[in-house]
Amino acid sequence: EPLELAPLVSHMVASFEPRLTERNIQLALQIDPDLPAVAGDADQMAQVLENLLDNAVKYGRDGGVLSVSVTAPQSDRWPVRRGVVIAVADQGAGIPREHLPRLTERFYRVDKGRSRAVGGTGLGLAIVKHIVNRHRGQLIIESEMGQGTTVSVWLPAQQVRSRLTNTV
Ligand code: ATP
Ligand code: MG
Repeated sequence: EPLELAPLVSHMVASFEPRLTERNIQLALQIDPDLPAVAGDADQMAQVLENLLDNAVKYGRDGGVLSVSVTAPQSDRWPVRRGVVIAVADQGAGIPREHLPRLTERFYRVDKGRSRAVGGTGLGLAIVKHIVNRHRGQLIIESEMGQGTTVSVWLPAQQVRSRLTNTV
């Protein structure tokens, strides 16, 4: 079924407003107006957003910026598939490179002491990965120590049956 990403993201981000205020985190929200149609489950995608926003606030920096963008990356290179990228970026401490490949394992947490202090079970990104896979999307986690972390979810654009005249 068609997924209305713009209202879903706006609504989810708005629900985090109290936590952002509490941590004095500024929000930078960018939603492109001309997104291609994406198919998916709204409840599951809400769960993805909730987990990514929760991490970005939990592990973000007080007084920092939380950036959320929903964009349709343009490529002039022919075979690149159309899709939508939802990116959530924080300005937290970052994740050491050696941990990146294991973050989506269930119960995996980077810094056991510090993570216990902020709370959580280590299931969030495992669930995110599972849902993104079910939508035939891709999950990309980028992090720079001392700079922050960006988690991006790429979702494929809904396939439009092309007319034969378009394909010859
Ligand atoms: P849960 O999501 O179940 O409440 P959690 O947040 O610890 O618990 P995940 O969301 O799966 O679990 O994240 C796994 C680990 O990856 C976290 O414990 C944390 O160490 C690290 N991590 C995740 N997101 C970030 C981030 N934005 N910045 C820094 N570290 C992160
Ligand atoms: Mg989490």
